[in-house]
Amino acid sequence: MEILEKVAYMKGLAEGLGLDTKSKEGRLLTVMIDILDDIALELQDIREDQSEMEECLDAVSDDLSDVESYIYEMDGEYEDEDDEDEDEDEEVYETTCPNCEEEIFFDETILADGCVECPNCGEKLEFDLDDEVEEENDEEE
Ligand SMILES: [Zn+2]
Repeated sequence: MEILEKVAYMKGLAEGLGLDTKSKEGRLLTVMIDILDDIALELQDIREDQSEMEECLDAVSDDLSDVESYIYEMDGEYEDEDDEDEDEDEEVYETTCPNCEEEIFFDETILADGCVECPNCGEKLEFDLDDEVEEENDEEE
């Protein structure tokens, strides 16, 4: 039974009892019943508002996923253009991940950093700069 129905039932009972509203107890009970009635009505309003908001939120969520798919499509197009530009401007190096044998492509900036992360397995590959170190050592000796 809904709270509103319960309150209505209680009101009926109170009327059936013939509550003496002039007695202290009768007045107290009448006030309590009124308060319960108000609470039940407000609860119903809140529930209605909430279900309205849920509908709105669903609509917003649907719109948002439309926008997302639109943006990702755009992003994909731009990425392709960027890749072409990079190919023209910078030299691309290639190595093979020793962990998963994925071919990894990288540019000079990553070569300068000395390491690259495998996009397939996440293995961190460090480039051997031993040649340069050896040369330096030779000079010292
Ligand atoms: Zn790998």
